Amino acid sequence: MDAACKGKKFGHNFPVPGGRCLNCGISQNELSGKAKPEKLKETLSQSLKPVRGIHSAIHALAKDISEYCKEPKKFALYLGIIKRIGKNRAYQIFSEIKQSKTIKSRAKIFMYLSKDKKSKNDSNNPKR
Ligand SMILES: [Zn+2]
Repeated sequence: MDAACKGKKFGHNFPVPGGRCLNCGISQNELSGKAKPEKLKETLSQSLKPVRGIHSAIHALAKDISEYCKEPKKFALYLGIIKRIGKNRAYQIFSEIKQSKTIKSRAKIFMYLSKDKKSKNDSNNPKR
């Protein structure tokens, strides 16, 4: 008792939108939305996760650098700079600071390095 429309994409007889075909019994939702909700969920969680990861990474980095420069109270300032120059560039500068012997100059070096060489590293910025 297979209906002519069974297993096909079109040609069903739905009494109401989202209802079941009068001929073969397939539901319209099932037909049109195959694997769709799952896919949507997947892309949603995929797009959310990295963003959150980047944010916490930037925060952690700002904390590290501000403490390393003995300016933990200026956390927000460092955070702003890191957001502007990008995480990769900030890591770069951080490793350069680490080679500095005097604590005093660390903050200065960070401020200095975060100002120049901007255009070259803009492409590394994960934000847009
Ligand atoms: Zn049908």
